[in-house]
Amino acid sequence: MSDIAANLSEIKSKLTGTNTRLIAVSKTKPNDAILDAYSAGQRIFGENKVQEMTSKFESLPKDIEWHMIGHLQRNKVKYIIPYVHLIHSVDSLRLLEEINKVSLKNNKTTDCLLQIHIAEEETKFGFDENDLLELLNLDSFQKLQNIKIKGLMGMATNTENEDQIRKEFRSLNELFKRIKGAFSLPNCDFTEISMGMSGDYEIAMQEGSTLIRVGSSIFGSRFHA
Ligand SMILES: *Cc1c(COP(=O)(O)O)cnc(C)c1O
Repeated sequence: MSDIAANLSEIKSKLTGTNTRLIAVSKTKPNDAILDAYSAGQRIFGENKVQEMTSKFESLPKDIEWHMIGHLQRNKVKYIIPYVHLIHSVDSLRLLEEINKVSLKNNKTTDCLLQIHIAEEETKFGFDENDLLELLNLDSFQKLQNIKIKGLMGMATNTENEDQIRKEFRSLNELFKRIKGAFSLPNCDFTEISMGMSGDYEIAMQEGSTLIRVGSSIFGSRFHA
């Protein structure tokens, strides 16, 4: 068994009997490494750059589900809409409007998550709670028919402090439950919470994650690849 297959098998054993699915984050990794994971049965992959994801989509098996997990610029939306499975990183109404417009042209509805800022760090993208509630109440949001909001995505603070990480994931889950209870909209179907990476996915699962995004624990460290 390759290292990648062994790593996958170990992570997947922790998902057995849970509601959580694994996204293998393959950014910066060569096609060989992805095919190694594919041979071990992995079909869901996450990338954070449009050009890299598109060229991997073009050269790799077509039954792979591609997830965009990185910051997305509006002028690049058109390249991924034809094939992307889920966009995790939606952080503005203007971006949603562009996704909606391009999706309409492609005669499809694109599944999206709204990225929520839960970490202490200032640098991470995302809505805060008030922005989110405001967005969901806007007519200009509610009339978008070619997007479907499947839930929320968040990244915890990069810290060793597990209590803090847990608190941040818990707050995301609480926000998710609140909007799920309060909003019944045609373009929303709140079923997914995308949270948890290599360092914190076990905490994220305990706090209700349905999608974990794991890179280095599968493919090895980005810095030593
Ligand atoms: C890189 C990345 C991950 C995976 O990080 P690892 O620590 O390598 O597991 C998850 N989510 C996002 C948004 C990322 O950019």
